[in-house]
Amino acid sequence: MVNSFAREQEWARLGRKLTRREFARMAALAAAGASLPFYNELTLAQDMKAIANIPPDTIRLNTNENPMGPCPAAIEAIHKVVPQGGRYQFNQAFAFVDAMAAVEGLPTACILASAGSSDPLHRAVLAFTSSSRPLVIADPGYEAPARAARFIGAKVIQVPLRKDHSHDSKAMTSASANAGAIYVCNPNNPTGTVTRKEDIDYIVANKPKGCVVLVDEAYIHFATTATSATPLVADGKDVVVLRSFSKLYGMAGLRAGAALGRPDLLEKLRGYGGLPLLPATAMVGATASLKEKTLVAERRKILADIREDLCDWLTKKGYGFIPSEANMVMIDSGRVGQQITAEMLKHKVAIGRAWQSLPRHVRVTIGTREEMTKFKAAFERVMAS
Ligand code: PLP
Repeated sequence: MVNSFAREQEWARLGRKLTRREFARMAALAAAGASLPFYNELTLAQDMKAIANIPPDTIRLNTNENPMGPCPAAIEAIHKVVPQGGRYQFNQAFAFVDAMAAVEGLPTACILASAGSSDPLHRAVLAFTSSSRPLVIADPGYEAPARAARFIGAKVIQVPLRKDHSHDSKAMTSASANAGAIYVCNPNNPTGTVTRKEDIDYIVANKPKGCVVLVDEAYIHFATTATSATPLVADGKDVVVLRSFSKLYGMAGLRAGAALGRPDLLEKLRGYGGLPLLPATAMVGATASLKEKTLVAERRKILADIREDLCDWLTKKGYGFIPSEANMVMIDSGRVGQQITAEMLKHKVAIGRAWQSLPRHVRVTIGTREEMTKFKAAFERVMAS
């Protein structure tokens, strides 16, 4: 089995948060192993395969995608570029950087185009952490940076979110005098909660010398109260902002993203990849999306209305949840979250998993209105069983 020692340690930690009966149930689920999707983030390859194998008639509320997909202008631009696909198309990435610079108010030298934001996030962790410079992250949080740090033997320090599920800026800043990077996801995945500008400013002002603050803004377009950290980039601070086109822009399968940072910081990221050749389809799609002036506000509203409807329903039915500003909601099932995820799949609704520090919550991505109606029906059936 992959990494069984590490998994046992995680189980031991998780066991302390559950009752004896719940823990026994979790152990039974674990024994079922890879047949259960997303039951343990330590088995990334298995998780990816499980997601890939979800039957096509299943509703996918598991990976924070956007069912709206690329906007019409992006689809048109992609169609147009496909016949030229036999040529390298460096120009499309330059055009994307120009568009991004115009929207963000940054010089083009502060923008690194990428195929999704996972790639520059991973590179940033490799560039700024090491066996002597730990990574500081929040818990519960997005695990990818921790995975990259562990791969190179860097220590990962997890700092619990505050009670309001924002990042604990003081605790994160003082977690290690030698931190190489502090990772802030704003809004946070999986909670969808926002960390205030003052907290991010505090981390940047008080972090250890040489430490870089990585602000992951994959979900920022959905939020109404979050402030982007891009002005800190413009001010020349030790900050790298990660942006994704996989969420509000609906381009997860097309792969576009960017890192925004001081040119010397971005230079350190460049070394961890080959030639900067990016898919022309993604670059033209992202560029066209950026030029649609009303897209972000329109999609944010559509998503917020559906999320509000879900939260009203949860409240009416007496289910707890964490109020979210992103396209996901953590719902308190009151039971072993992973079991709910597995049961929902039998009803052809794929939802996200639970986190070790929130073992009874399950993460549910906001889908279309029709999809959420099916989710509600399946969730009620599973909760009644
Ligand atoms: N950052 C966060 C917080 C995410 O949740 C995700 C994906 O779900 C990513 C980054 C990676 O997104 P992508 O590589 O598709 O841009």
